[in-house]
Amino acid sequence: MLAAASAPEVEDSVASSTSITDISFIPVADPVLGHEEKTALCEVIDSGWITMGERVQRFEEDLARIHDVEETVAVSSCTAGLHLILHALGIGPGDEVLVPSLTFVATINCILYVGAAPVLVDIDTIDNPLMSLDDAARKCTEKTKAIILVHYAGYLADRSAWQKFADQRGLLIIEDAAHATGLKDVGTYGVAAALSFYGNKNMTTAEGGAVIVSDQNLREKIRKMRGHGLTSGTFQRHSGSSPGYDMTMLGFNYRMDELRAAIGIVQLRHLEAWNHKRRHLTQLYRSLLEEHAPEVVVPFTAGDVSSYHIMPVVIPDGADRSHVIKSMRDAGIQTTIHYPPAHLFSFYREHLPSKQLPRTEEYGRRELTLPLFPRLDAVHIERITHALAKSIRC
Ligand SMILES: *Cc1c(COP(=O)(O)O)cnc(C)c1O
Repeated sequence: MLAAASAPEVEDSVASSTSITDISFIPVADPVLGHEEKTALCEVIDSGWITMGERVQRFEEDLARIHDVEETVAVSSCTAGLHLILHALGIGPGDEVLVPSLTFVATINCILYVGAAPVLVDIDTIDNPLMSLDDAARKCTEKTKAIILVHYAGYLADRSAWQKFADQRGLLIIEDAAHATGLKDVGTYGVAAALSFYGNKNMTTAEGGAVIVSDQNLREKIRKMRGHGLTSGTFQRHSGSSPGYDMTMLGFNYRMDELRAAIGIVQLRHLEAWNHKRRHLTQLYRSLLEEHAPEVVVPFTAGDVSSYHIMPVVIPDGADRSHVIKSMRDAGIQTTIHYPPAHLFSFYREHLPSKQLPRTEEYGRRELTLPLFPRLDAVHIERITHALAKSIRC
């Protein structure tokens, strides 16, 4: 059975490796999990060592090779990774961090975890729904310490423009790369990047994440902080390499376990092919939408560097989105929204200074996320495109 994985709060995103050609309901996202992952999990259980150990280390090495970096640090989630980065950088009360409102709440929450103030920034345009440099410049104050860039939908932010922006103002750049696993540029923008392996991402460990940090001192600090700031872990003590330990800094329990790492090792072997398939499907969407539903805006351009994490489209201003969502569902197609603007959520409205972000609001009103995952084929893209064209016209 295929489970409908949609927004990150949906937790039932585990499916078998059944082909989807013969099923009638198309979810928005669908992890590829099967026989190889099952075997890998059984091996961990048989080994008798299920917490952080050799497989976590191997996963970190394999991930580093794919991202062309020296090392990576596996953690329990992308949220944990972002929290560790901000905590390790000493960002805290009195500091401000620029962040897009068009993101998943985790990006904003991690700023609140360290006691700093998120400053929500508008998107550039409907066609380029990434954080706006102009609006960020307007919102920068002497309290601003860092920027969190989100590679929304897998499309990379403009590195040289943001580096110039950050250099001129002495700001740190952090990447929320939850959508961009597998892209080599991730981790090269500023101090650190966090990846997500949640169930609906480009690859999954069920729950999980990783941090890419170029500076070795900062990386070792984050590595320690992942395990309560201890100088050695259970595995090192078990293997006899260091019998005792000291605690030298305040950390958290943000470790990854061997079961998740074992799944991740398998998934990483397929990531490049999966991202390639996503790219192919996205190109197909672009040409079919242009032909059959030219009134639909497809953000970004075909040549942009991306991991093609999701397929966002913007429906015409007058179209009734809830009607479109319902008629797509009646046609057996799940759609979701990435994202309801964060600044409009009750919690942030209550706790952050009130904001008007007109472009984010318009995008949030008109955006619709179409299904995109490696096991889709041309027939599905055609079916989805035709259903969309029909539902926005009636
Ligand atoms: C999924 C997601 C996260 C959170 O990832 P977790 O691994 O679930 O903590 C953060 N930011 C963005 C943009 C995401 O899509």
